[in-house]
Amino acid sequence: MELLALPAFTDNYIWLLHDGAQALVVDPGEAAPVHAALDAHGLVLAAILVTHHHGDHVGGVDELRDRLKGLVYGPARERIPEPFVPLKAGERITVLGLDFEVFDVPGHTAGHIAYLHRPADEAPLLFCGDTLFSAGCGRLFEGTPAQMHRSLSQLAALPGDTRVCCTHEYTLSNLRFAAAVEPANRDIRSHVDWCEGRRAHDLPTLPSTIGHELRINPFLRCGVAEVAASARAHGAASNEPAAVFATLREWKNQFR
Ligand code: ZN
Ligand code: FE
Repeated sequence: MELLALPAFTDNYIWLLHDGAQALVVDPGEAAPVHAALDAHGLVLAAILVTHHHGDHVGGVDELRDRLKGLVYGPARERIPEPFVPLKAGERITVLGLDFEVFDVPGHTAGHIAYLHRPADEAPLLFCGDTLFSAGCGRLFEGTPAQMHRSLSQLAALPGDTRVCCTHEYTLSNLRFAAAVEPANRDIRSHVDWCEGRRAHDLPTLPSTIGHELRINPFLRCGVAEVAASARAHGAASNEPAAVFATLREWKNQFR
């Protein structure tokens, strides 16, 4: 299986997974990059996986149906272009002969789902849309901080080598915030250097891994003393991870 991050719009990635003959794509906000990749590699489009209803994740779905030899899958509790197979937590689907488990991860949107594949011989693969970003997390458009904190905690509990395929290239700007939260965190500083090198060559900073995010992502580090102290200084009422999370999310919204 080969995993590709197809750049779309200004900072989206459409993830494409293929076996040399068949491909699935995740969150095709536009069709053109998918058409180009399918043509370049001579692939049949076998499935479309959607994590949530936002236009930059579903905008290309209808145009891709013409060449789709399979189904569109999406969140049961959201409106995405019909027809699609509605999915919710605990359900499993098989595409490209691979088994994917569905997680409910509300917060960015109310019905947001994520897809996890656990290969026998490789690191798990997580498609998490706009829930978990490298060094950050999605904005809370439809959910509460408590919901998002629970969603992220679920993802944080996955094996450390899980490959995190998020939908946006926000890593460097997220790292600026992460460094403000934890000025003494060396992992954050060295990751900035690595990401700057990648971006200088137009390469993605993704996928990340859960283990790496646990070291650099303030939103997964709400239980760490220094993160809690920073949040307290920005108004968190207690050191409770959920309260720390709520303050960090609010602080990040204002952060420039
Ligand atoms: Zn979104
Ligand atoms: Fe998005």
